[in-house]
Amino acid sequence: MKNRLSHRLQNISYSQTLAMSSKARELKNRGYDVINLSLGEPDFYPPDFILSSAKKAIDQGFHYYTPVTGYLELREVICKKFYRDNGLKYSPSQIVVSTGGKQSIMNIFLSLLNKNDEVIIPAPYWVSYYQMVKLCEATPVIIPTTMEEDFKISPKKLEKYITHRTKLFIFSTPCNPTGSVYSYQELENLAKIFKKHPNVLIISDEIYEHIRYSVKHTSIASFPEIYHQVITINGLSKAFSMTGWRIGYIGAPEWVSKSCDKIQGQITSCANSIAQRAAIEALKVSPIKIEYMIKEFEKRRDLVLEMIKKIDGFHVNKPYGAFYVFPNISSFFGKKVDGKKIMNSDELSIFLLDKAKVATVSGSAFGDNECLRISYASKEDKIIEAFKRIKQVLN
Ligand code: GLU
Repeated sequence: MKNRLSHRLQNISYSQTLAMSSKARELKNRGYDVINLSLGEPDFYPPDFILSSAKKAIDQGFHYYTPVTGYLELREVICKKFYRDNGLKYSPSQIVVSTGGKQSIMNIFLSLLNKNDEVIIPAPYWVSYYQMVKLCEATPVIIPTTMEEDFKISPKKLEKYITHRTKLFIFSTPCNPTGSVYSYQELENLAKIFKKHPNVLIISDEIYEHIRYSVKHTSIASFPEIYHQVITINGLSKAFSMTGWRIGYIGAPEWVSKSCDKIQGQITSCANSIAQRAAIEALKVSPIKIEYMIKEFEKRRDLVLEMIKKIDGFHVNKPYGAFYVFPNISSFFGKKVDGKKIMNSDELSIFLLDKAKVATVSGSAFGDNECLRISYASKEDKIIEAFKRIKQVLN
């Protein structure tokens, strides 16, 4: 049959994070002992008080459509959370609750991007930013960074990439996949550049806000001179270990939140009502309540760094947030295994899955073909076993 797929769809690839995780699941179902370090999914159980609030919501009858942008009570709590944790003042009309941070980003892209608009994305970037921009037929403009720069961009570099076609800039801090965290000073310096370019909107993905180790988190919207240019994204998936509940939200200039309301009203109606009720309780509490998870992640980060250093050929920097390490593995390129040369990060990642039964994600998915993303959102014994296997097969 003639190819009936849209050009838009043919123009993008599958999500590599989800694809790798599904490969690992498939192998597991076939009886292999696979350790999955591919997906960015906390292995904790969501806190009890959140689970109870969801059960209560079912009994209280919250079974129906909510307002498109989310229950007013939830949006009010989100405003308080933004003020408490980020020093940001939003009113409920500036908030849109969606089915995860992913949908929040797509709502914004669909609302703002025209064909050929440019979106600046510092690399390494989260896999779906790039593909979503292409899905909107806009142009991703990549700013490469190096491990020596801690995978962060400088103001000078940023300014070089801004053109009259730049519509948006998108980044995450703490960063998926590198774990880098921008400091107050670094963000203030970037803000100065954005101030000079008032037509450029900034999407600040702060989904890993609470997952950081001995460093502070700053929201770029907290610099008053660019507040009206920034859209802040957050959600419940990572901090509360609620990936499947699909709750994300934005704080944005009202003209942007209104346009996301319009888009979402046509394609989703609203985020899940029970999950929204639970989100109200989750966001009311201080981040202190989830500190036990952060402490555990920090321990694992240190463990992973220690083990990586013992593997010849892996070069890594110290990440201060999220739950990923992003080692450079290019020294393996050109080496032969089973008569076949490994030439890129895709091939090394597949090799590790085949031979060590450890799932990782190739750096190429994140715009850096020399690296590999390894998630440590997994139990300590699994991490230890995974690195033992990786070391063995690479030796
Ligand atoms: N954000 C997580 C990750 O990067 C979940 C999978 C996805 O949506 O990409 O692994």
